[in-house]
Amino acid sequence: MNPTVMNLSRREFTRLTALSLAARFTPTLHAQTGSRKIGYAVIGLGRIADHFLRGSLLTTNSTITGLVSGHRDKADKFAAQYNVPQNSIYNYENFDEIIKNPAVDAVYVALPNSMHAEYTIRAAKAGKHVLCEKPMATNVADCESMIAACKAANVKLMIAYRCHYEPTNLKAVKLIRDGALGQVQAIESAFGFNIAKGEWRINKKLAGGGPLFDVGIYSLNACRYLTGEEPADISAYASTIDHDGRFDEVEENVAWTMKFPSGIVASCTTTYGANMAGYYRVYGSKGWLQVDQAFVYEGLRLRAEFSDTQIDELNPARDPSHFQAEAEHFSHCIQNNLEPQSPGEEGLRDMTYITRIYKSAGISI
Ligand code: NAD
Repeated sequence: MNPTVMNLSRREFTRLTALSLAARFTPTLHAQTGSRKIGYAVIGLGRIADHFLRGSLLTTNSTITGLVSGHRDKADKFAAQYNVPQNSIYNYENFDEIIKNPAVDAVYVALPNSMHAEYTIRAAKAGKHVLCEKPMATNVADCESMIAACKAANVKLMIAYRCHYEPTNLKAVKLIRDGALGQVQAIESAFGFNIAKGEWRINKKLAGGGPLFDVGIYSLNACRYLTGEEPADISAYASTIDHDGRFDEVEENVAWTMKFPSGIVASCTTTYGANMAGYYRVYGSKGWLQVDQAFVYEGLRLRAEFSDTQIDELNPARDPSHFQAEAEHFSHCIQNNLEPQSPGEEGLRDMTYITRIYKSAGISI
């Protein structure tokens, strides 16, 4: 939910939601444009890439036409599975040769955070559209360079905020925009997990910082799309409790509060020291809503009570439906020359707030 979406009227929100759902659920939509499927090269064949690869198979407008990996054996395995020709497998050194591959329209950047900027910029220079994982980068300057490089190359840049394309999150936003909760007053949100030793996520050079970059960003972004506002004031604390070698470079816990221009207050926490199922709860003058498992790949549950209404809905969609939806949206935007709902500017905004949260917590990033 980019700035346009965040400030939109009820009518505009309904139209955009319909567009997003149409991109998901109308198999013939791209056929009407006469476009062929959008071919993606996946960069970094780790855990999230696997979800995206499987999600792309379910789409009608996206296909896998390239792979980029430092491990040829891993790439060969995926190539066989997804029918990618041997001459469309690249490594990090020869990646720029992708410019000569017309079957690759776009790349999906699924690398550790600090590598997003380099591969987004190299892909843009090769004339490829970019779908980049969150967090967009590890600092504001890199986000700005990524946006500038994609603009200069006239390619599209979308940040993979899959919750923006996910029906339960969209329904929560719609209920709020439709006024079901009355005037929203306060939001609580949390997301975290107990991290294992040896993860690149606790290496500051690769991750940029701790759980805020990785999972806290979901709560931050959700508060922005739920309110449709940008935080005006931010105040934060960070701490490390477990001195077991995992948190020598990044913090273990962050708690932060935000005040939005309307006066809505939000309170968020994130951790790498405990399992914290992602959720948000929104309190309004007429009632409340809560989404449990709000940021994971399946099992999202929306509960609400307002006026005479009670809602308790478990979303039956299974993984990798979120990845299917985001791929379909980006491919639809490429085919129809539309701006994605979560463009680079959306990732940049979160990066500016992440920077402010760390500054308030006394941590330099
Ligand atoms: P991962 O460790 O499973 O995969 C990372 C990939 O990058 C691996 O294939 C690895 O070989 C490759 N790589 C290249 N250079 C590397 C280096 N120097 N160090 C470590 N790995 C290197 O990580 P992941 O969980 O797939 O996360 C990748 C990105 O996706 C991150 O930016 C993360 O924030 C994001 N992510 C997004 C979601 C989501 O739901 N949108 C979920 C998980 C991760």
